[in-house]
Amino acid sequence: MSIFTKIITGEVPSYKVAENDNFIAFLDINPNAKGHALVVPKVEENKIFGLSRDAYHQLLDFSYTVAKSLEKAISCKRVGMSIIGLEVPHVHVHLIPLNEMADIQFTKKVTCTHEEFVALAARIAAEFDRE
Ligand code: AMP
Repeated sequence: MSIFTKIITGEVPSYKVAENDNFIAFLDINPNAKGHALVVPKVEENKIFGLSRDAYHQLLDFSYTVAKSLEKAISCKRVGMSIIGLEVPHVHVHLIPLNEMADIQFTKKVTCTHEEFVALAARIAAEFDRE
């Protein structure tokens, strides 16, 4: 069972920002930038192109709404999107608030306190609920 499935079942805590029947979005625990979020299908599939075409489109559609919420909640020039999966073999879309090129590189990391994660997640979730 992947760490993300454990988040989906509630076994592992997360800073959740959005959820529906098929997808969940929560903050990345080791973010490139404040507000860096992951969008994850509840079905545990390893690779993005292992999803059905329909599930792939639904994942991008849900990510669109989460990205809109991020843009409203976090001060940034734009939201970048990246799909990697080398660390966690459970499909996820990285949505990253960008101000500079280094924000999309996975070498520069920022530190957030628990209180900051809680506040960021609440701001993004409130925007998601308004979408
Ligand atoms: P990758 O599989 O290379 O796309 O990266 C996996 C991402 O998941 C990394 O950015 C990690 O910081 C993030 N991650 C790993 N475990 C957790 C967790 N328990 N909660 C939130 N994010 C996580």
